[in-house]
Amino acid sequence: MTTVLCAVRRLSVTYRGQQAPALTGLDLDIRAGERLAIIGESGSGKSTFARTLAGLLPAGATVAGDLRWAGGHAPRAGRNVGFVFQDPSASLNPVLTVGEQVAEGARRHLGLSRREALFRAVEMLGRVHLPDPERTVKAFPHQLSGGQRQRVAIAAALAARPGLLIADEPTSALDMVVQAEIVALLGELVRGAGMTLVFVTHDIALASGFADRVAIFRDGALVEAGPTRAVLAAPQAAYTAMLIASHRGLATPPLVRGADR
Ligand code: ADP
Ligand code: MG
Repeated sequence: MTTVLCAVRRLSVTYRGQQAPALTGLDLDIRAGERLAIIGESGSGKSTFARTLAGLLPAGATVAGDLRWAGGHAPRAGRNVGFVFQDPSASLNPVLTVGEQVAEGARRHLGLSRREALFRAVEMLGRVHLPDPERTVKAFPHQLSGGQRQRVAIAAALAARPGLLIADEPTSALDMVVQAEIVALLGELVRGAGMTLVFVTHDIALASGFADRVAIFRDGALVEAGPTRAVLAAPQAAYTAMLIASHRGLATPPLVRGADR
């Protein structure tokens, strides 16, 4: 038996001032403890879906349909849902130390003292494999590389021990090697903590390396969803088959490795 963390039903989202909805009539279950990849081209509604789940839609967006959360209430961003954005530079404050930013969520949501929260920040920096956490807590974002900044953003998102982590194209701004490291890190952290991961990407090959299930989005609608291996081996929709085919030359090794993991 799998527990459904959030049953999304007939979800439609329209931004203020837009004629066309960004999402239309979407049905999708997020299962507790799974690593779910949301895959689609730019503009397909992936970020809209991620923001809706996290309660981070901009003011004035109209939401129709239901999000039925296990336990009855929606999680709170920062507390029971962590969010990692595409660009770590944009999500980190340049004038605060890394430690202050990672500690903030722990202070606010776990009720830790300043000292305890800084301790927790050091622990989190170690957990995301940043070198020399005791020193790195005192660093400012600009003193770190892009990959290190994204590790900090992940540490900050996880500091309050959320049950759900949503990562919206967290590696798109990074180079290939660092991308692979960050993906591996997310997989490890989520497995270790029994968290649910919703990972948004335009890259089906990247997703197939670690996702338990994939959901393919196109033009604000769900094309298909299913176990990664099954969807890759036998896509139900012509669109999914095309996405897979367009990646095959590049992606055969990761696809195979992902399927065997
Ligand atoms: P993706 O993340 O897959 O690239 P988005 O969810 O960002 O797609 O966008 C889906 C659609 O909604 C696009 O047509 C986009 O232009 C539109 N959109 C996204 N954010 C906003 C916004 N804040 N205001 C108006 N339209 C938006
Ligand atoms: Mg997006």
